[in-house]
Amino acid sequence: MKAIRIHTHGGPEVLQLEQVEDPVWRPGNALVRVRACALNHLDLWVRRGIPGRSISLPRIPGSDIAGTIEKVDSESEFLEGQRVMVSPGVSCGHCERCLCGKDSLCHRYVLFGSGIDGGCAEKVLVPIQNLIALDDTLPFEDAAAFPLVFLTSWHMLVARAQIQPGEVILILGANSGVGSAAIQIAKLFRCRVIATAGNESKAAAAISLGADVVIHHYRERISDEIRKLTDKRGVDVVFEHVGQATWKESLLSLARGGRLVTCGATSGYLAETDIRYLYSKQLSLLGSYMGSKAELLQVCGFLKAGLLKSVVDRVFSLEQTCEAHQYLEEGKQFGKVVLRV
Ligand SMILES: [Zn+2]
Repeated sequence: MKAIRIHTHGGPEVLQLEQVEDPVWRPGNALVRVRACALNHLDLWVRRGIPGRSISLPRIPGSDIAGTIEKVDSESEFLEGQRVMVSPGVSCGHCERCLCGKDSLCHRYVLFGSGIDGGCAEKVLVPIQNLIALDDTLPFEDAAAFPLVFLTSWHMLVARAQIQPGEVILILGANSGVGSAAIQIAKLFRCRVIATAGNESKAAAAISLGADVVIHHYRERISDEIRKLTDKRGVDVVFEHVGQATWKESLLSLARGGRLVTCGATSGYLAETDIRYLYSKQLSLLGSYMGSKAELLQVCGFLKAGLLKSVVDRVFSLEQTCEAHQYLEEGKQFGKVVLRV
């Protein structure tokens, strides 16, 4: 099969299109013919290398997969030829944490495209418990654009920050995959959403997804705008994934008792926290990483009901993976960058 592989960490040029052996099917798994694979910032980190974490190479990247089943156990509830979406995290399935539905805390938790080979290939081997049946109407590109960012944003806002109707949520980087998902989830919970965006067209796109107000983060200081917009109160929850560049502004934007929830640090991972704010304003700093398959099924229900939708910015071919990485790295997109396989 054709696959994109990384043999060494570095720039987009390390993404090699190669002819490799098909994955070998094993009972308990499905061999999935990949039709689309969405990119995430994680793909950029895996390609560049993550300080302090080793990724075994060569590796086929790609965590967000949709396709059709080519081979599966005959006694499973899935059929060959069936359209499926793949839950991006694989866990052991039998430890205490897996059994209480906290798969992403399992000590053997890995993601497609990072800990195991992913979907930037014509085929991928997927444990049956990671398959989610798709109906015939959702395009593969939209299906691939959904799992990782909606699961991440749902776990951040609903499980970790426990958002409540009427609360004010600051969502950084409305154009990012997680940002565009978080706006929709926060509106689903009837929160007031203040998003940030880097230009007029991204601001307009954020409003069309449901954001109530947009702050232009290159032109305006976020915490000053939040003070004006909330009558000096601050926001209940900050949805963080930017890291170093926005951390201080995020903390300054929180109301007393506010929660900051973060899933990433695209601009850098070392930031200063003034501990005085933390205790005197009784703030909570919450880390979040992926979520459980149960949460993904829950959020898929809202996709099916038309209450949440994938935001696909641009589709590239598998052969254009290098260009797709460059495009994502430049941050020009609104929503997801997807590879059609
Ligand atoms: Zn486990």
